[in-house]
Amino acid sequence: MVTAEEILAQLSPEFTLLPDPTHRGAAPAETWLVDGYPGTKVGIIASVTRPFCGDCDRTRLTADGQVRNCLFGRDESDLRAALRDGRDDGEIAGMWRRAMFGKLPGHAIDDPSFLQPSRPMSAIGG
Ligand code: SF4
Repeated sequence: MVTAEEILAQLSPEFTLLPDPTHRGAAPAETWLVDGYPGTKVGIIASVTRPFCGDCDRTRLTADGQVRNCLFGRDESDLRAALRDGRDDGEIAGMWRRAMFGKLPGHAIDDPSFLQPSRPMSAIGG
């Protein structure tokens, strides 16, 4: 793993990065303005070393119809099976909503009990 601090340290001899005053909201990347390069930003997604899970509003629908409410989560909701089972749009939406409302406050990867999902994020589209 490469930490956000290491990335910033690598860039600092070449570039002066200034805090981006734009409100980040739920965006995954923390951004900086590059001094001397108008309109240029650098973004770092540091979900491990600078976690932003508290602001995350994402769910992921995989190519095989599974909803994951966190890239590091192990639980998946099988929308494909529900669709093939003939469930209507309201039921599908309800399944997706329940998955979203079940988001945990964080990925907990620094917890000793953390287990990697069987399909890592690289296997479900990053
Ligand atoms: S680890 Fe999970 S909850 Fe945290 S930002 Fe990534 S997808 Fe969202």
